[in-house]
Amino acid sequence: MTDTVLTEAVQAAATGEPRRYVITGGPSSGKDDLIATVHTAGIPCMQAEPGREIYRKHRERLGRHLLREDRRAYSLEVSEAFIAEYTSHKHGIRFYNRGIPDGYGWEAFFGLGPTPQLEQASRLYRYDAIFVLDPLDTFEDADDIVWAKDREIRRVHELIVQGYYDAGYEPVFVAPDSAANRLDFICANLRYRNPAEEGDPVTPSHKLATRTSLLLSPNSVLANALLRSIDILRPRVQSARPARIEFVVGTQINGAPHLGTNVVQAAAFLLAKIARREFSVDTAVRFGALDNAPYEVVLDPETYHAYQQTYYHALGRDQIRELIEGYYRAFFDSLSEATDTEYVVETYTDQQAAPGFRAEFLRSLEHLEDIRWWLAPSHGVVHIRLPCPECGWAEKRADRTKLAHLDEDGAAFTAVCLDHGRYEVHVDPEDDAPYLDLATLYRNLIKERTSGRYVNTLHVMMKGGRAQSTTMWTPWFGS
Ligand SMILES: [Zn+2]
Repeated sequence: MTDTVLTEAVQAAATGEPRRYVITGGPSSGKDDLIATVHTAGIPCMQAEPGREIYRKHRERLGRHLLREDRRAYSLEVSEAFIAEYTSHKHGIRFYNRGIPDGYGWEAFFGLGPTPQLEQASRLYRYDAIFVLDPLDTFEDADDIVWAKDREIRRVHELIVQGYYDAGYEPVFVAPDSAANRLDFICANLRYRNPAEEGDPVTPSHKLATRTSLLLSPNSVLANALLRSIDILRPRVQSARPARIEFVVGTQINGAPHLGTNVVQAAAFLLAKIARREFSVDTAVRFGALDNAPYEVVLDPETYHAYQQTYYHALGRDQIRELIEGYYRAFFDSLSEATDTEYVVETYTDQQAAPGFRAEFLRSLEHLEDIRWWLAPSHGVVHIRLPCPECGWAEKRADRTKLAHLDEDGAAFTAVCLDHGRYEVHVDPEDDAPYLDLATLYRNLIKERTSGRYVNTLHVMMKGGRAQSTTMWTPWFGS
């Protein structure tokens, strides 16, 4: 998919200034696979990391693996090889299989400080971006370097990362994934020069696809333009002419509410009262109890995958109802009475089971490639948690949850359970199972698009900020 765009970008950059990107990480990070994929994609890239060849040479000479006292001579030679690689590159893009600052991590691993030569080289020869590959699940090293324990692999990885920070870099972390997806991630993080607009850096054209339509997010600063808060809604009410306005306020059901939470809830009731008077429409408050909040998180000690169980799965429907009754009912009843405003309570569990929510979710999957960076700006991996049908636990970061199949009948996903291994679930709009636990941004997207389909009701989302400020917005209509 990226191939032609990438090739064009690489060709366009070929005569430009040199750009150097480092791919690094500890052993078993999948670096070799990724480097091979970079080559296959036709991007100029360093072949083998010079350290390995030099290591073999030293080992042959010594007749054993290198010890601490052999490190200095070895490191200097590696450093020189990296400098030669660096300086011989004159134009265009080039990827590097490790970089000069890797030396900091390796020296530290053997209990040595950086040499003056390394410090100097690190200052003089700067790279344009550093990509650190997060370790994969399985610790296998095709090379013949012996790793006593997984723990050591972790430690090398951490020391390499620390070395880049010490050298003044801000590395970009690449999540465990297939080599092709990782390259896609890396390309999305680079900015190429557009051959048509020399001097104006842009991203590859397919990445711009989502930008060609109208503004996607209403992001307006209304300071000095408003006399009263309710005026935020006026333009939307004027244009949509809704018969009813619902103020939607969502709260995680994970203990006694914070004062700020109660402030936002009170604001919802007050705004409902004012809006009713101001716009002569019915208004109500819709309270979303987020019972998919994590109740417990565990880390698999072997693979470092995190698993979580929601409040709903841990406590069950009845206890969730008791929590809502205990923490919110009396407060809501009095707010309702004081503002003469009706309210409804719905749980996330009920929302996700509704056919409309599921249909909207399935529709969104067709555009997963376009929306994933909006929903997961840091890593592009959208967290779709589908709990194990046997125990109700799910992969917290959905690392190994994959969309296996999508057609008009629904979607099939595969995922992995800590106790029950690999499993498959099928989501279709007609069925309220399996449970669909979406990360907040994704859930909001689905919820807002679902709300946007009710033309007679305007939904106003309310959100409390850190300083107890309250914001509100309305679902964004669009295709
Ligand atoms: Zn399970």
